[in-house]
Amino acid sequence: MVHPRLAGVRTAWRVSEDGDFFCPACGGDRCYQLLEGRRRLTVLGVPVLTRGAADPVASCVSCRGRFPVSALDRPTTTRLTVLLRDGVHTIALALLAAGGGGGGPARRTAVESIRAAGFPECTEERLLTLQAALRVGSLPLLDREVRETLSALTPHLASPGRESLLLHGARIALADGPYSAAERAMLGTVGEALRLAPADTERLLATALSA
Ligand SMILES: [Zn+2]
Repeated sequence: MVHPRLAGVRTAWRVSEDGDFFCPACGGDRCYQLLEGRRRLTVLGVPVLTRGAADPVASCVSCRGRFPVSALDRPTTTRLTVLLRDGVHTIALALLAAGGGGGGPARRTAVESIRAAGFPECTEERLLTLQAALRVGSLPLLDREVRETLSALTPHLASPGRESLLLHGARIALADGPYSAAERAMLGTVGEALRLAPADTERLLATALSA
């Protein structure tokens, strides 16, 4: 047996990729380097045998912390803000289209929540233009759009965040009266896309109706 101080496995790292990620140690958006490693058996500090690839790691450029590559799956704060903003916008358009496009109160409610979500330039006129473009036969299209937009966002939101997105849609639907069948169906789609249990969707929609 070789003395442990004389022999060991050393890993040589090289940067294979870089970019932005949410660093779990810093708790914020940082730059990362993706490091790929090759392990070598060394004797007296000299590499003598290749021992294969080490699992790649993501290294934070700021704190030098090293994390499994799965850390890169989490969106940055900036990216999450964009996903959330797009989600709010898509839900609002879908509910306005489901409501038939007539209601001023619904449109004003939609404008308020879209602005609050990070589109300060949103106006009723702009929503009217979008609605006019979407009116004919657009519900199946919006149904798919809602599912696609929310599928990128849903895995990164805890249930209070997902519930508040459904309630945002419910408020728009309720701004000009009780849910219509089309609004109810669209809210069902939103609930599904947010991966809320059907019973939770029912309960939240009933709560919003009685509020
Ligand atoms: Zn860090």
